[in-house]
Amino acid sequence: MLSRVLLVTNAGPNIRESSPRQYLEQRRAGSPEAGLWNLLDRVHDPELPLLSIWEMGMLRDVRRSGDKVVVVLSPTYSGCPAMESIEAEIKSLLRGAGVAEIDVRTELTPAWGGDWISREGMEKMRAWGIAPPEDGELDVAGLLPRQGVRCPHCGSRETGLISEFGSTPCKALFRCNQCSEPFDYFKRL
Ligand SMILES: [Zn+2]
Repeated sequence: MLSRVLLVTNAGPNIRESSPRQYLEQRRAGSPEAGLWNLLDRVHDPELPLLSIWEMGMLRDVRRSGDKVVVVLSPTYSGCPAMESIEAEIKSLLRGAGVAEIDVRTELTPAWGGDWISREGMEKMRAWGIAPPEDGELDVAGLLPRQGVRCPHCGSRETGLISEFGSTPCKALFRCNQCSEPFDYFKRL
């Protein structure tokens, strides 16, 4: 059983041609391993259990290399200790599907960001009351926005930061001035 984490620091995919989410959509649509991609839709991000790793934009590739299945993942936040459990779940599912050799790799470049989250993923987040990264604009310094994040409940941008940390460290807590509801904003990297 081969298992290792390979840190790729260069030679990442060329995403200049399209947005990261389009790049992933095209890669999946063009893959001969549709069954394996579909199988891995069952793996969810423990940080945001309503989203699969595909919807989060963490699943970058599923391919066969000889007898081996190679799965390429990108972590969302280095501080979020979800990768180990995600890797364990991937291996368990693939083994269950009869795959003997599994190689789960971590790709750090290009880094994950909010624009890797799939369209369905963003819709699910909003429906769950969490503002996806795309619904906030970073300030010039690239920091967490203090205001102006779009409220997932009513769509208003009349919102303000309450706490830099929401229900998990990857989220920040906001309140909407329009509908008075608090909500989590999923931070950018
Ligand atoms: Zn609101």
